[in-house]
Amino acid sequence: MGNETTGMSKPRPPVPSGPYLVVGLARSGQAAARLLAARSEQVVGCDSGSPQCAEGLRDAGVEVHLDTDGIALLERARCLVKSPGVPRQAPVVEAATERGVPILGELELAWRLMENTFVAVTGTNGKTTVTEMLGHVWRTAGEPVAVAGNVGTPLASLVGELPPDTTVACESSSFQLEDADSFAPECAVLLNVTPDHLDRHHDFEDYLRAKLRIFAHQGNDDVAVFNASEPALAGRDLGGCARRVAYCRGADPDCAVSLNEETIFIGSEPLIPAAELSLPGPHNADNAMAAAAAATAMGIDSGALGEALRTFPGVPHRLEQVAEADGVLYVNDSKATNVAAAAAALRSFDGGVRAILGGSLKGDDFSGLVDPVAERCAACYLIGEAAPALQRDLAPVRSSGVGLRECGDLATAVREASAEAGSGEVVLLSPACASFDAYRDFEERGEHFRALVEELVR
Ligand code: ADP
Repeated sequence: MGNETTGMSKPRPPVPSGPYLVVGLARSGQAAARLLAARSEQVVGCDSGSPQCAEGLRDAGVEVHLDTDGIALLERARCLVKSPGVPRQAPVVEAATERGVPILGELELAWRLMENTFVAVTGTNGKTTVTEMLGHVWRTAGEPVAVAGNVGTPLASLVGELPPDTTVACESSSFQLEDADSFAPECAVLLNVTPDHLDRHHDFEDYLRAKLRIFAHQGNDDVAVFNASEPALAGRDLGGCARRVAYCRGADPDCAVSLNEETIFIGSEPLIPAAELSLPGPHNADNAMAAAAAATAMGIDSGALGEALRTFPGVPHRLEQVAEADGVLYVNDSKATNVAAAAAALRSFDGGVRAILGGSLKGDDFSGLVDPVAERCAACYLIGEAAPALQRDLAPVRSSGVGLRECGDLATAVREASAEAGSGEVVLLSPACASFDAYRDFEERGEHFRALVEELVR
């Protein structure tokens, strides 16, 4: 790790003093409340519902209030700690803003209390994949690393647990970044920005601004990795003062990492042919470039990097192959909760895709799926609340001979898709929608898909 960008990080701002009101007691909020309680701080936690395991915080010394808006509790707090699941428009957050009570996000809180070097990853799609990929790259290179984010570990649970030389690969959502007032990772990676979560961000511009906050507080010793092929970033000032490191599709001397003639290059040196990457699809070549750009900027050697990209096992619910029976491949991409992710999944196969689409609605327009569906699908199986909108927006694919079947629920869709699939085809759950109309989360939906498939092919 002989690079000037690694080593001890700069001092971070102190955390405002308590008592604290932690708002939102799902996983990240629970981790933040535990962290503060373990530091002998006075902590009150509240949630407008009653998330799993929140009651257990009482054993850690947290005063817990469930099914409440929390406004009355604000009087006792000098700092509000906000879980990323809580919108800025929540009454208690607005009340804190009005009263001048400092608001700290869970990511910001934990980062301020750590001294490790951070490689943070944001983007609409691919955050978890790239963050886990970076963890695999560091481990393959024999370098100490911890992975924080959506899969498993909230950042707050790592405070005080890591030796100082451990690099933290940290998934950072737009919700976490909008509450990050000074978060300045040594390396920040922005993968892509396409419409998503427009139910919580005012509009696309607001969402893009939240993503760009990953660069906003970086200094000139830091590194800003970005996707130069992302149209939403073209001509855009990224903000902050970090050294820019670009990656892109096609030959471009301004890009540190590029995909040219089906090979990933670092500068002019070939790193790995795309066909040798462990994960399929053009979007995963983009993800590999992002990881390669970050790892190279942070001093990881290219031998270990290439080896890691060949062997990365992938992440469950992201283009995960769950079975093959009678020549039909069954793929679980339940994490594709927006149009861009589902389009990327469809484009990972040459054709013969039987795509299961639908779920809950979050203000999306599905017309971005028309081309990939027309190019790659034999038929689509529509489920959930979004089925009528999908029927409407995908109507043009009928003229390409692609059937749109109304299936109601996932079990019916799997059964029909499987019955119609011929050898060499793919039954793909890549719903382009969130799952909340029928499931707790995308993981529960993906597990249900897996169980249905296993029952069918048994
Ligand atoms: P995130 O953590 O940003 O939600 P994930 O890595 O969990 O991203 O992947 C979410 C979905 O997006 C998956 O369905 C995956 O196949 C798809 N995906 C992953 N990387 C990309 C990318 N670079 N561009 C478009 N879609 C992607």
